[in-house]
Amino acid sequence: MRARLAALVRDVPDFPRPGVLFKDITPLLADARAFAECIAALARPWRGQRVAAVCGIEARGFIFGAALATALGVGFVPLRKAGKLPSATLGIDFELEYAHTRLEIHADALAPGTRALLVDDVLATGGTLLAARQLLDRLGATLAGAAVVVELESLQGRARWPAGVALRSLLRY
Ligand code: AMP
Repeated sequence: MRARLAALVRDVPDFPRPGVLFKDITPLLADARAFAECIAALARPWRGQRVAAVCGIEARGFIFGAALATALGVGFVPLRKAGKLPSATLGIDFELEYAHTRLEIHADALAPGTRALLVDDVLATGGTLLAARQLLDRLGATLAGAAVVVELESLQGRARWPAGVALRSLLRY
């Protein structure tokens, strides 16, 4: 199953800037069976883990996160780029593999103590997940862990993730 999914992640060299090998998940999304298998495989290890909310990171984390929330039978909370959320927000600035950015969450999105699962498409340097984790901390949420579809092991993002908190990736390169 993993090999089939991996074959549907397309490498795009030098996007969005020279030197970045972009992992394009759109072929996987376009394949109904592969997408369904991907969501089922992402969900499997989190069943029985008392996850109470899935938090997806804009933009591609919304696609997997929303489907995963449905699969786990819990609600979905968006972590968005600056200026997109309409109500009161908390925000954090950070560095991506190829950009500076800011993530925001609605200040009332998660009640204190809610067990939240973070979701994104790709783990690269780990800056995005680190920032997302800090935002959830500031809301007083409890981190169940993080799930990503693709982990770029050479960028060592996992090293920035706290030992003892689960970080699960489906496909590793
Ligand atoms: P990072 O914060 O460096 O772990 O970067 C992860 C975030 O940037 C995720 O939201 C990804 O969607 C995106 N990203 C970073 N590097 C790549 C890449 N090589 N291919 C696809 N997406 C990437």
